[in-house]
Amino acid sequence: MADRDGVIWLDGEMVPWREAKVHVLTHTFHYGLGVFEGVRAYKTANHGTSIFRLQEHTDRLFRSAHILGMDMPFSKDVLNEAQKSVVRENNLDEAYLRPMCFLGSEGMGLRADNLNTHVMVASWDWPSYMDPEAKEIGIKIRTSSYTRHHVNITMCKAKANGNYINSILALREALQSGCDEALLLDNEGYVAEGSGENFFMVYNGIIYTPELTSCLDGITRATIFQLAQERGYEIREKRITRDEVYVADEAFFTGTAAEVLPIRELDGRVIGSGRRGPITEELQTAYFDSVQGKLETHYDWLAPVAK
Ligand code: PMP
Repeated sequence: MADRDGVIWLDGEMVPWREAKVHVLTHTFHYGLGVFEGVRAYKTANHGTSIFRLQEHTDRLFRSAHILGMDMPFSKDVLNEAQKSVVRENNLDEAYLRPMCFLGSEGMGLRADNLNTHVMVASWDWPSYMDPEAKEIGIKIRTSSYTRHHVNITMCKAKANGNYINSILALREALQSGCDEALLLDNEGYVAEGSGENFFMVYNGIIYTPELTSCLDGITRATIFQLAQERGYEIREKRITRDEVYVADEAFFTGTAAEVLPIRELDGRVIGSGRRGPITEELQTAYFDSVQGKLETHYDWLAPVAK
């Protein structure tokens, strides 16, 4: 990943990809206190390559930094422009973007109080998070043996670097046991989310999703809320148990990387028809239409990268 052509935006400047380095005593590298985003840009029908819901991602990055008490050295406008320019300058038609704010190597130790916040934005071609077939047939998941973060152990509303140890452990466990993804429960045993996705299920025509207690306030989740409500569906946020998922008619994950991903099996129990259900398909289609600029009513979600 480090050895390639291209540019990365680092602290206000475009630097060659191979030279975008930090010191080994970088504070975030040691303790995980940093915040980041995962953003996507798509080729659209008539807006050229556009970043999907750029402002919402930048707003969440700033909220994450605020929660962790990190000073932001750049404005939101500067970061929006940085994100557009990395897509443009790397000549990407479609892209995944990774903005990250980290504490530097100005000091070491938990008590360091002279740390600067540094900001980077990288962007590369990253077509599909899962096997493209999975979008149609759905994925197999398992309940994780790892509990999702408790709200008072780490800050669940921050997309914080250190939070992802929990995600990686859960995902690796799922992959090692032959599944595609993990379903993490909260500390009370209710469904929280996937390792990097929010969770939805459909039962008797109603769409359910966990309350935003220990899960991330996903931007795809919010997008699905809006698209579903516009199509006349009722969405309820509630506590969900794993056995409610076993008997659901449909289930799916949402996330910037995973997009809208049907779930066909949990813990060896087939969900519904065992493949993508009709409501999942309708919302998945609406989601892809919106990111690709085919929904006139949601042009406001697109940030064209062209100058
Ligand atoms: N939960 C977690 C833990 C995530 O990492 C992500 C990906 N950012 C999501 C949910 C989905 O969020 P979004 O739709 O904003 O990508």
